[in-house]
Amino acid sequence: MEGKTSVKQRGGKKMKSTGIVRKVDELGRIVLPIEMRRTLDIAEKDALEIYVEGDNVILRKYQAACVFCDSVRELINYKGRSICADCVGKLQNKV
Ligand SMILES: [Zn+2]
Repeated sequence: MEGKTSVKQRGGKKMKSTGIVRKVDELGRIVLPIEMRRTLDIAEKDALEIYVEGDNVILRKYQAACVFCDSVRELINYKGRSICADCVGKLQNKV
């Protein structure tokens, strides 16, 4: 099913319609088209964070941030939490 490509103005942010319509299966799954995954660099097993805004469901590539400073640079995963290299360095200096 291909709809018309349209751009909706929403709170200053442009939401671009891809013209793609997908049906949800019995388990609530939908398939992201391969072209979209390639464009957005989404690989198998990548995590997507699900946002809800009114009636909209928004998927965003999940990007963990440092638990201490919210940085997303050079993250190290420790026991399921992300810590940036900067904070690790600061912690090491205190020990
Ligand atoms: Zn940090």
